[in-house]
Amino acid sequence: MTFEAIDAWNSWNDELATGNSLPPGLSREDKVFHKCGSLNIADSKELPPWELATIRAMEEQGHIDTQLVTTNPRHVAISKSRGQNISPFEQAGKERPIVGVLDLSGGVAVADKACRFALHKAQQLGVKVVFDAVAGAFESLEYSLTPSGSLHKVIGVRTKDKKLHRGEQVILACGGWTPSLLPTLDGLCEATAGSVALIKLPPKSSSPELWDRFSPENFPTWMYRMRDGASGGLYGFPRDDNGFIKIGYRGTKYTNPKAQRDGKERSIPVTRWSDGEKLTQIPKQAMSTIQGFVHDFMPELELLGIAMTRVPGFEGLMVATGGSGHAFKYLPILGDFVVDVLEDNETRPVLKRWKWRTRGEEKPVNVLMEGSIGTRALSNVPLSSHGAKCML
Ligand SMILES: Cc1cc2nc3c(=O)[nH]c(=O)nc-3n(C[C@H](O)[C@H](O)[C@H](O)COP(=O)(O)OP(=O)(O)OC[C@H]3O[C@@H](n4cnc5c(N)ncnc54)[C@H](O)[C@@H]3O)c2cc1C
Repeated sequence: MTFEAIDAWNSWNDELATGNSLPPGLSREDKVFHKCGSLNIADSKELPPWELATIRAMEEQGHIDTQLVTTNPRHVAISKSRGQNISPFEQAGKERPIVGVLDLSGGVAVADKACRFALHKAQQLGVKVVFDAVAGAFESLEYSLTPSGSLHKVIGVRTKDKKLHRGEQVILACGGWTPSLLPTLDGLCEATAGSVALIKLPPKSSSPELWDRFSPENFPTWMYRMRDGASGGLYGFPRDDNGFIKIGYRGTKYTNPKAQRDGKERSIPVTRWSDGEKLTQIPKQAMSTIQGFVHDFMPELELLGIAMTRVPGFEGLMVATGGSGHAFKYLPILGDFVVDVLEDNETRPVLKRWKWRTRGEEKPVNVLMEGSIGTRALSNVPLSSHGAKCML
């Protein structure tokens, strides 16, 4: 899936470079994907078993010399010959043991440009969109009834302006909001929060060396101790065109449980842009983990946050949701999978994994629906005093 997505990202870049049919606001110099590599680092001398297994699996699949180990001189030479930076944290490495794997196939997707591009492509194909806080907001599903008066089939959606939009097939793809809109997802999908800090570089004219060091041409996407629980789970990206460097924390994925109309608690997204209740801080734990990393690894910045299936019991309805904090990278190919499900062509193995499932006896990997008594509920964790972004 990843390689399919990368091919699709590259072809979107190629399409933009032709300059034919550019979306408003984008030029042929814009890119929606930078192939800057993705570096996964651990603070140890030896690679963790997960990394070793990943390298082995990639080589078995024929992707030889795409996973480069930072301590292997041959690999360092390969990365140099490809013009990719395998040691962006070289200075920090002199003070502590760090080892990592640079995945040459990885990179960073430019989300705002990619969304604009995807929207433009969809509109060119005749897709109609309704962007409006009321007329574009889903309120409820609309059903046809059986002769005895029970619900028969989903026949469309009603928006907040009370208008009915009919559809032979309804696809609910409302991201973290989906479980609160479709309670039958209880226990299967839950909105959890990642914490994101944005560090703004000083203007390029005053700090050209920082703009250069952190540019996508010179700096990879990185992950740090992703499998080490609350004290790890950090990731980040090169700077964007506006000089912002994004650092994310998902060592703990927080929840925001709120009582719903049926009396049950469900976690719902809250951001600084939410209607009603807003959140402008991130949890202290997230802030201090990010600050600790910046102090140790990027001190120059210190001075300056899936399920895709028909819904059983709801004829005419499918969901496409559950990106689990890292699904944006599949943007250019997800529609293809949606079409496969729509056309009942579920031959690709991954679609079997995304099928509706019932909760069994086994202990789930992610504990869901702990509600407001859970230790990860935002109402139970101290928040940082800094203004920062918290996105669910
Ligand atoms: C903090 C954070 C960091 C992340 N970092 C990364 C990353 O580095 N890399 C990566 O690949 N992925 C990342 N992700 C994951 C990625 O953002 C998601 O997997 C992806 O956006 C999911 O896409 P989606 O279309 O399912 O949902 P979304 O992108 O959330 O889109 C859902 C849309 O539905 C709309 N909506 C909601 N309710 C209604 C309603 N009632 N009526 C009408 N519209 C509605 C919303 O406004 C929204 O536009 C991150 C996620 C978070 C929260």
